[in-house]
Amino acid sequence: MGELITPLRGCLTKMHIEPAGRNAPVRYTLRAGDHRLDLNARLGKTLRLTHTGAIACTHCGRATRKSFGQGYCYPCFKRLAQCDTCIVKPETCHFDQGTCREPEWGESHCFQPHVVYLANSSGLKVGITRRTQLPTRWLDQGAIQALPILEVDTRQQSGFVEMLFKEQVADRTNWRAMLKGEVEPVDLCAERDRLLASLDNGLRGLRERFGADSLRVLDVEPVTLDYPVLESPTKVVSHNLDKTPAVGGTLMGLKGQYLMFDTGVINLRKYTGYEVTVE
Ligand SMILES: [Zn+2]
Repeated sequence: MGELITPLRGCLTKMHIEPAGRNAPVRYTLRAGDHRLDLNARLGKTLRLTHTGAIACTHCGRATRKSFGQGYCYPCFKRLAQCDTCIVKPETCHFDQGTCREPEWGESHCFQPHVVYLANSSGLKVGITRRTQLPTRWLDQGAIQALPILEVDTRQQSGFVEMLFKEQVADRTNWRAMLKGEVEPVDLCAERDRLLASLDNGLRGLRERFGADSLRVLDVEPVTLDYPVLESPTKVVSHNLDKTPAVGGTLMGLKGQYLMFDTGVINLRKYTGYEVTVE
């Protein structure tokens, strides 16, 4: 992908991020419609995104005046299981009550192995994800370290485990601290051992409820993730395409789903479905 001559035009989807091997920063690809742009190659150069005013639902493609749940039209937002609150709070899964919005989707997404992990994005945090979503989930959060600690059979079980860990560990990322890069390394293996020991009672309770083999402790090595950042912002100013349709500047870095310009940062995931021109 070389220099751009004519602006690209298309609807945004979240950036594709992938590891690039040992000691190399992860690779970012901007996706706008069918267009792909290598963002690592744009570091230190100017980049501008301009919202055309159009928003297309990321699921059905229908035009929508407003985006719901980061990229959906209102009917999809109300109808799809992936937009239900039980996805964010898996312990509230209501599949067994026969009220899953889309039981088939639930079976193929929620009744699959999930991983409970520790990560360091702005300090120690706990998180859960479907096994197949690793390491994407960590990269989307801007984690600099991550360690899978337990594997379970369903999303709901992972939710119960996460609830337990939340008594002692944060489950949110402070995105300003994450972007400023003021994050101290954490000994994740030591934290895992400490937490598994202190939460032993609670974990035993979950094993009694779901079966002895339902919660499996993983013995794997932590991963370290390095992001392409020329310079972290000292003060975080965020751009908003709803208020200012044209944003850009010199691209200073990429972390999580954020573009960092010398003029401010933008969380691209928030603008999924927004049609933009890119130049
Ligand atoms: Zn839709």
